[in-house]
Parts: sequence; structure tokens; C-alpha cells
Amino acid sequence: MKKVAVIGTGYVGLVSGTCFAEIGHQVICCDIDRRKIDLLKSGIIPIYEPGLEEIVSSNTELGRLSFTDEIGAAIQASDIVFIAVGTPMSATGEADLTYVKAVAKTIGENLNSYKVVVTKSTVPVGTGRLVAQTVAENRPDSSVEFDVVSNPEFLREGTAIADCMNMERAVIGATSDKAAKIIAELHEPFNTTIYITNLESAEMIKYAANAFLATKISFINEIANLCERVGADVTEVAAGVGLDSRIGAKFLQAGIGYGGSCFPKDTEALKHIATQNNYEFKIIESVIDINHRQRLIMLDKIKEALGSVQGKHIAVLGLAFKPNTDDMRYAPSLDLIPALLEMGATVTAYDPVAIPEASKQLPAETEYGANVYDTLRGADACMILTEWNEIKEMDLTRARELLRAPIVVDGRNCFSLQEMEELGLAYYSVGRPVVR
Ligand code: NAD
Repeated sequence: MKKVAVIGTGYVGLVSGTCFAEIGHQVICCDIDRRKIDLLKSGIIPIYEPGLEEIVSSNTELGRLSFTDEIGAAIQASDIVFIAVGTPMSATGEADLTYVKAVAKTIGENLNSYKVVVTKSTVPVGTGRLVAQTVAENRPDSSVEFDVVSNPEFLREGTAIADCMNMERAVIGATSDKAAKIIAELHEPFNTTIYITNLESAEMIKYAANAFLATKISFINEIANLCERVGADVTEVAAGVGLDSRIGAKFLQAGIGYGGSCFPKDTEALKHIATQNNYEFKIIESVIDINHRQRLIMLDKIKEALGSVQGKHIAVLGLAFKPNTDDMRYAPSLDLIPALLEMGATVTAYDPVAIPEASKQLPAETEYGANVYDTLRGADACMILTEWNEIKEMDLTRARELLRAPIVVDGRNCFSLQEMEELGLAYYSVGRPVVR
């Protein structure tokens, strides 16, 4: 059993902290956001993540997991301190390290015994060294030692608990064998592949992994756009291509591009790292451009379906950047709904969980439906932006009856062309022939 503090109790800190408690460690999750800590102390989970509430509650009851905004005390009481704060995209595209630096300073100020300081946040190469320097400069007693480790996180929102409990690998970038051993031992009960590297390689592995996945998405979206022009069906193409084990079937779903809190900022950050190092990273630049363009194809499709969007009422289904999360960071809906409104449409939107978060960010004139069918009633077209099960499994016959015009523009390829044809719905999807 190890004593662990996790600083930053967001999607990553809360899930990974809870999973470390689940495998038997003593974990204190800390945050500067008092509201978040108060909610957690009273058993309320501030984010939507399936299964999280149960595992937080069981570990809290067992006394293995606690929450505090007294970060200094939590650091002092722990042997391992994780940094899991946000590293958002700055105006210039690089990762904003303000929060990481602030936490490194706090760790330094509270360094009362040997600790391993672990960066879980996604950070540019060189940040581990910066954290080490900041901790060293701020420690009250320079004879107290510490080590810095990079241990990037690979969980996905929506399946975060399973991803963490069954992690495919733990990457440990360390400057000392002692620290690498401690963090490897911490992960032992996960029974996962431990991959030890130097600090810089671990930091780069995270960016390389996300950039590669983003590349897969932009690549299949390019193929999809070409499929539309030549009469091929991208779902058949992707399935056929994915049968090659060198390629694999995962991450080959054509759609309206990636969003969320990681891929957009991490691809931009990698591009920035390349530029800073006088390297033109051509693939990543294209991946970013393609992704931006891909969102906008939804506007072309709705115009193709309706002629003019002016004065039309659009039902938008799905707001979060992907299913099973309430995370709205860089969600396509944040670009597309304002664009529809600017083009003179009215919009009623629905999402199973993201409406409270979305309504803070979308224009005030956006209306919200109580459920899928309420949202579809009387609309001139339905636009699908997130492939929630509730949306994929909607009763299409009922949907057709509720819509004023039987038109579905689907950015996530939720339905088969055949079923839409049989039901008499006009269907515009991505990389597949139009059903009229
Ligand atoms: P988040 O915004 O959900 O959470 C960050 C938390 O840090 C917030 O609760 C914030 O209040 C807190 N915080 C900020 N400054 C603090 C400080 N000085 N002291 C204590 N707490 C502070 O972010 P997230 O989605 O959990 O991401 C965290 C990091 O993990 C990022 O670098 C991200 O790129 C990376 N990551 C995220 C995911 C994901 O799916 N969300 C997956 C892998 C890696």
C-alpha cells in the first residue's frame, strides 16, 4: 500500500485516483476548486463518467479515498504526488503550463520527506525537467530529496474506469531507478505492461499516441470524402481495410472529426513543439486542417438537403464531443449550432447528459428538447452530432412521423442506408451515397 496524493480532481485525476484506491492504495484527491471538493465530500460526482459514482463511494467508505482542498497537507502526508491538472491549449496552440507550474511550486513548498513527483497531465517534452527545477527551487530544506517521473494517462472519457483498471500499459519515464521502481510497484495490482523509458520519451509517447489516433481519424475522413465522390461506401471500405492486422479496425469510423479535451489540443501542441524545434511536421498540420474542414461538411450537407437553411427549424441530436460523457471541450456542436443560427435557422438540441454544460457555451437562442422525440417534433431536418446509444436506437418510424420533413443529416453514420431507404427517410451521412 502506498500513500498517494493526486492534485487536480478532474476527469483524469478523479478517475485515476479512485482506481489507485480501488487496487488498495491510500489516496487523497486534491483540487483548488472548493465547490468540486465539497460535492465529492458529500458523495456527488461533479462529472458524468459511467460507473464512477459507485467506485468512488465504495472506496470512500473503505477509508482508502478522501478529498481535500488543503493541498499542502495532502502533499506532506504522501509519498507519491501526482500532477493531474489541466494543460489547455493556449491562444498560440502550445500547452498552457500555468497550472502545472503552480502545482510544482506547491509541491516544492511542502516537500517534507522524499517523494516521487509524477506528471500525469499531458505536457510538452521538457516539462518534467521544469517540474524538477521548480520543486527544487521551492523546497524549504534542500537536503530533502525527490524524483520526478512522467506517467502519461491514456484513459478515454466514457470508458475511463475500465480503461484504468485494465490499462494496456503504464509508461514510466524516470530519472532514477529508485523512482521507476516505486511507480512500477504502485501499478503492480493492475497487472499491466510496465514500460520504462527516460523522462523525455515518456512525455513524447503521449503526444505521439494521440497524434497517431488523430491521424487515423483524419485519414478515414479524407477517404470518406473521396468515397462520396466516387460512389463507394466508407463503412465498407473501412471494414475491408481494417481486416489487415497491420492497420486494425479501430479508429476508422468516418464522421465529423475529432473533438474533446485531448486530440485538438494535443495535435496543436505537437505542431507547436515541432515549430519550436525548427521542424515542419507536415502530417500533423494536415491532420489539424482536415479535422477543421470535416466539421464544416455538415453545413454543406444540410444546405444540400434543405436548399436554404434560412427560416428552417433544425433538431440537433447529440452535443457532447462523443457519447457517454458530458465533456463539451472542442465539441463539433459548439461550431455547428452557432453556424446554423447565423445562417438563419432555429435550433432545438438534445443530449442525454451534456445540456447543462452545453447551455453555458452555446448561444442563448438555442432551445433544448426534453428527449429525442420532443426535439424532433416539427423540425425541418434532424442533424446527428453524437452517436449516443439512445440516439442510435431511436424509433425511426416515430422520428419520421414527428419530423415536418423526413430528412436526417448524420455526422456519425448511425444508421444503415437500407433501413433509411425502407423507412422513406432522406439520409445524408458521411462517406456514403445519399438516400433520397
Ligand atoms: P480537468 O479540467 O477535468 O481537471 C483539471 C483539474 O485540475 C480541475 O478540477 C482544476 O480545478 C484542477 N486544478 C487546476 N489548477 C490546480 C491547482 N493549482 N491545484 C489543484 N488543482 C488544480 O482536466 P482533465 O481532463 O482531467 O485533464 C488533466 C490532464 O490529463 C490534461 O493534461 C489532459 O490533457 C490529460 N488527459 C486527459 C484525458 C481526458 O480524457 N480528459 C485523457 C488523458 C490525459
